[in-house]
Amino acid sequence: MRKAFISPTKYVQGENEILNLGYFVQSFGTSALLIGHPDDVNRVKDKLDATAEKFGITFVESGFKGECSRQEVARLQAIAEEKGCHCTIGLGGGKAIDAAKCVAQGEALIIVPTIAATDAPTSHSAVLYTPEGAFDDYAYFKQSPSVVLVDTTVIANAPTRFLVSGMGDALSTYFEARATAASYSRVNASLPMGSREGLTAPAVGTNAALALAKLCYETLLKDGAKAKAASDSNMVTQAFENIIETNILLSGLGFESGGLGAAHAIHDGLTILEGTHHFFHGEKVAFGTIAQLVLENAPTEELHEVLDFCLEVGLPVCLADIGVDSITREELLQVAEKACIPEESIHSMPFPITVDEVAGAIIAADRIASEYKARREAK
Ligand SMILES: [Zn+2]
Repeated sequence: MRKAFISPTKYVQGENEILNLGYFVQSFGTSALLIGHPDDVNRVKDKLDATAEKFGITFVESGFKGECSRQEVARLQAIAEEKGCHCTIGLGGGKAIDAAKCVAQGEALIIVPTIAATDAPTSHSAVLYTPEGAFDDYAYFKQSPSVVLVDTTVIANAPTRFLVSGMGDALSTYFEARATAASYSRVNASLPMGSREGLTAPAVGTNAALALAKLCYETLLKDGAKAKAASDSNMVTQAFENIIETNILLSGLGFESGGLGAAHAIHDGLTILEGTHHFFHGEKVAFGTIAQLVLENAPTEELHEVLDFCLEVGLPVCLADIGVDSITREELLQVAEKACIPEESIHSMPFPITVDEVAGAIIAADRIASEYKARREAK
């Protein structure tokens, strides 16, 4: 059986870790193209200046426009070439990180997430958008980032909603990896650039990835609420550090090398509903996870454990929590149909998938979770 596992070359996290960024730039050369939204760059400007001076390196400002489009990537690559940059830094949230991945093409790339809202920083893939902000395509690179550098002090000072959303994204990781392992489905780690033609078979996940995904879930249950309290106080605690590692590293390796299942596909389906647009990726994934547990008829104790966790940290559990106060039968079927298109990860579930069953799971999950929430609130 073919198996695949992929990861960044280095992962470092610590308080004021950006003060060490120059050290990592130095391993590639003397200058780095800095891709980040001006607001994010300004938040850490003092640390960037300090590390540049200490390690004798230069950050080349890119004037990043905020969208990861083919045009913007070409513009950034031209700057990197003209200025002779030795490496690329993606600093900030999703778009800056994706743009940096596209510019670097898998070479000499340092990712500096300033929020822990998703598990994208460690992966070897990015999402391209049109200049107008619509989905364009997925891009896969020959390598994962060379360095993922996480400054926990910066993340502790970001709004707590980002951290909680990251926990929602991380919540799905174990259940999706478990399903992918049970069905021996292909994992993202096996997706190279371009065509897969010529390979003998798709690669499935490793025991290592499944173990990381399991630790991801266990750490959420153990430290999630404590980390939220630390974030609310803008403080770094051990529980907070554990959740940063969970949201970024464990969930990142777990999803990419362990596989995605129904939770993310249902998330993708839900994006057609206007009401969900004001909610973050991880918030919708949390509901997708609950719907997956209903779809696979997971044990009641497990479903309740997940619901308790979501309610404790403030993650959505039902459709109303993600901006969907009412849904018509037609809308529900559209959501389920989108979740079930042939390319979707829902087909990694270890049983046949039908649109009707997915629609049923969404509605049943909504009802079970709303009633569970009401019972808890009444106590
Ligand atoms: Zn995700």
